Amino acid sequence: MNNTQVFKKYTSVHPGSELLQKWYHMTPEDNVGCAICDTKDYKIWYELGLSKAVVCVKCGLKYITPRLSRRQLRQSYSEMFYKDEVFTKDFEGRKHDFYDPVDRKNKIKDRHYEIELTNCLTQNGTILDIGCGTGLYFEGLKGNFKLFGIELSQRAAEYTKKEFGACVNMCEIEEVDYKKDFFDVINMTYVIEHVSNPKEIINKIYRWLKPGGMLLVSSPNWGSIASRFYREFFRLNLPHQHILLWEEKTLKMFLNEAGFEVNNIYFPYFKTEYFNLYELKRLFRNSFYRILLPFFLKTGYYPPLEKVLSPPFWGNIMVFECYKRCRT
Ligand SMILES: [Zn+2]
Repeated sequence: MNNTQVFKKYTSVHPGSELLQKWYHMTPEDNVGCAICDTKDYKIWYELGLSKAVVCVKCGLKYITPRLSRRQLRQSYSEMFYKDEVFTKDFEGRKHDFYDPVDRKNKIKDRHYEIELTNCLTQNGTILDIGCGTGLYFEGLKGNFKLFGIELSQRAAEYTKKEFGACVNMCEIEEVDYKKDFFDVINMTYVIEHVSNPKEIINKIYRWLKPGGMLLVSSPNWGSIASRFYREFFRLNLPHQHILLWEEKTLKMFLNEAGFEVNNIYFPYFKTEYFNLYELKRLFRNSFYRILLPFFLKTGYYPPLEKVLSPPFWGNIMVFECYKRCRT
């Protein structure tokens, strides 16, 4: 059995089918081309049920097609926010409560690079956090900042306004505008993999940021060891949400072309909540399961999802530190 057949077989019945049920509560209706170079030609990287992970033949961007349309996304996000279920539970059954003080501490640790870089750069700047959620990034900052945020969830936006005195726009990035050269720092954690129009967004960011200002972009990394080894079973595959499958080289190229100088790329892991003995053990166990999965399936054994999906690991997440160049 090749990888595609293994994934198909595993997800055809319980427990693997849960994965497809979670991803495809709606049938994706948008067939798209490359969001960077508009090319429609692609090669299939792997299939994820109703969607495919593909590679643009021209620029190498990896992305999901078909995918949920804008209309479907709006509906699905508003349903999630309504139920207040966004990111609250992952496949391993771990709860993520963004209002709980202990969970918040851990989540802030996950963002330590963004926070340290900002604290090193300025103590009194004007800062925008795109997709600010419940203000985890703001909570780690030390200084007297003017804080701005963009956030779709009303509950999260109101929490961040109240707790951090931030000026939060509750809308999509496309619907908001700020003055030119207004911000010293713009942070964007786990947003760029969700958007269908990255060029429009990065051009806005370029305009809003002061010349020399710092842009921090964090994204899952589909060029990581875990992504390459686990492929279909990479834990950050969520084709109903993660539609641009960035790697170091594609994100670097994209930021560069938009007018940013990439200074450094970081891979948060060792100082995060995911670096511990439990996760290391799972790393060995799950890799073992992943290798043996074709044989398991042949014997009729379908291991639970938590044993076949990739565990958190170094390289899964990347943080780009870049600065606005002046366009000539
Ligand atoms: Zn392309």
